[in-house]
Amino acid sequence: MGMVRFARLIAGIGALALAACSEAPTEFGAVDEARLLDAANDPDNWLSHGRTYAEDRFSPLADINLDNVGDLALAFAVELDTNRGQEATPIVVDGVMYFSTAWSKVMAIDAATGRELWRYDPKVDGAKGAHACCDVVNRGVAVWEGKVFVGAIDGRLIALDAATGDEIWDVVTVDQEQPYTITQAPRVVRGKVYIGNSGAEMGVRGYLSAYDAQSGELVWRFYTVPGNPADGPDGAASDEVFAQFAGETWNGSWWEMGGGGTVWDSLVYDADFDQLLVGVGNGSPWNHRARSAGEGDNLFLSSILALDPDTGAYKWHYQLNPGETWDYTATQQMTLADLEIDGRARKVVMQAPKNGFFYVIDRSNGKLISAEPYTYQNWAERIDLETGRPVEIPAARFADAPYLVTPSGLGAHAVHPMSYSPQTGLVYIPSMQVPSAYADDVNYKRNIGRWNTGVTFLTPPAGLVPGDTPEARRAYITAQTKGRLVAWDPVAQREVWGIDRDWPWNGGTLATGGKLVFEGTADGLFHAYDASNGDELWSFDTERGIVAGPISYRANGEQFIAVMAGYGGSMGMASETGWMRRPPPNGMLLVFKLGGTGWLDPVPAVQPRPYTATEERFTQAQIAEGQTQFFAFCTICHNGPTNPDLLSSPVAGDADAWQAVVTEGILSRRGMISFAPWIDADQVEAVRAYVLTEAERRNEMEN
Ligand code: CA
Repeated sequence: MGMVRFARLIAGIGALALAACSEAPTEFGAVDEARLLDAANDPDNWLSHGRTYAEDRFSPLADINLDNVGDLALAFAVELDTNRGQEATPIVVDGVMYFSTAWSKVMAIDAATGRELWRYDPKVDGAKGAHACCDVVNRGVAVWEGKVFVGAIDGRLIALDAATGDEIWDVVTVDQEQPYTITQAPRVVRGKVYIGNSGAEMGVRGYLSAYDAQSGELVWRFYTVPGNPADGPDGAASDEVFAQFAGETWNGSWWEMGGGGTVWDSLVYDADFDQLLVGVGNGSPWNHRARSAGEGDNLFLSSILALDPDTGAYKWHYQLNPGETWDYTATQQMTLADLEIDGRARKVVMQAPKNGFFYVIDRSNGKLISAEPYTYQNWAERIDLETGRPVEIPAARFADAPYLVTPSGLGAHAVHPMSYSPQTGLVYIPSMQVPSAYADDVNYKRNIGRWNTGVTFLTPPAGLVPGDTPEARRAYITAQTKGRLVAWDPVAQREVWGIDRDWPWNGGTLATGGKLVFEGTADGLFHAYDASNGDELWSFDTERGIVAGPISYRANGEQFIAVMAGYGGSMGMASETGWMRRPPPNGMLLVFKLGGTGWLDPVPAVQPRPYTATEERFTQAQIAEGQTQFFAFCTICHNGPTNPDLLSSPVAGDADAWQAVVTEGILSRRGMISFAPWIDADQVEAVRAYVLTEAERRNEMEN
């Protein structure tokens, strides 16, 4: 069957693949504990999310290297079925590549030729997309003993047959009535599959679960924040530590909004100390005053937790941001390394979290070794090495006045994988500088199922940033918003080299034994650099923005470099800069090798649709009400290029059609749910009034 489908696939995208036949393995997904523990000595494969349990994303392969990378060319491409964001890291086992795509779909292909072996669609209800804070992305699958595991956006954990893609079991890991989602790649240790969830922006209580890989039965669960004390203990692995000391760090009635602390990305098995390191997210709501009456550290928000992988028992924690209030998560990638620091051999975990500091932590006990900023930040003076706590700049908590904070909730580094090369000793971080004006939302009210931050995101008020008009102040913010690939020395805690990007939200990095670093960028280029000094040696125009991390592997005796291209995620949904007004094309898996002969047809140019013109007139009260509701409910999904720009939507010109979409929810299956639970029909009409008025204002500015 595969050849017909394959031929159509290739014809459809204009990419040519050599008709090479590679030997199919007799056993699919043959990954076990011994192989995972020895993955560093298995350069041909990419067996788990960060290649090895240490998650350094360093491929020792050197067939593609400094001398010949100029001959790197497309081998083959697989077009995907959506223009939503692609954030997955593929897994390669014995010549077969397994990868997930947006909407939690999974494909298996011949890793040497691109020939499709199978595909799987969990058939998620499109309305569930409205619970995804940051697009319906998926960061990858795990493979273990003949099975492929994927977390679905609707909260299921699913086990597939690695040979056929048939479902073996699926289990619902969350209360599906609540706004939980899953975007995380599962991890497997000794026959247990670990999966967390997302949803802290919407209002949920975070936790990590361990399931039996064979049966799908729940083995243990660890809640990262306490529940309602009136409900008593959970009967979970976390009960003891909340009773001992962590429960006392909370105040107010945090449980009403769940408290947050979701485990939505980073999860690392540390074999040296037989512990699972868990990256914990931000609070729900974000604002510490709205969440916990402004008091207490709120464990284990914004923390790295070490747990026993068999039982979930607590071992230690390190909290990056006590009393977290900015959406500063500790969910960013953790990488394990053995470093020599001050003449001592140290077993460390390294993290470049959202808050902009690079942390080196002793993983024998969770004690901080060093922390220095890897980009501009203005919320802390430093991290105190004695206490491990930040010395904050008090105004950054935006209690009495708005504060222009950098990094903002998008982070100085977010979902984009970093890599660590033991050859150069450098960590390659796709960093970001994105300021945002935060103000205390004194009128905060809970919107169950929608965004709950307790923060008002302002066009910076006069005086906060230079500029006489709101436009000038917005332009200042846009000019300050950028990215930088940072090559960071984790021992000396300093940048060795860096490359500025005009835009933030670029791709993850891969370091290789060929002394190369690969990174895709938001503008669709895929680059190779000299890992020691950042000299650009090669690039390829993929014509779609890249946010995922690349991988490398060897199949049929040849080294390949692969990356998922497809713009989306937080910036794709909610970019405040509006820098990319055309919708992105469908995503692609792109695979390169030396002397590859594939090509891509150019993507047809799409002109941005003009802002909707109108003769209708509305009252000032209507427009003001509409603006409030627009920023409360609409911009979070309609400010970036991925979803329709409401200011140029023809639907806005038709009051009945507008009500049918926004109030009645006729596009619910595409993720545009009814907003009737939160705003009434008059408010929906007011949003239309604001949208049309703003569209007209922009038309006047452009003419
Ligand atoms: Ca968050």
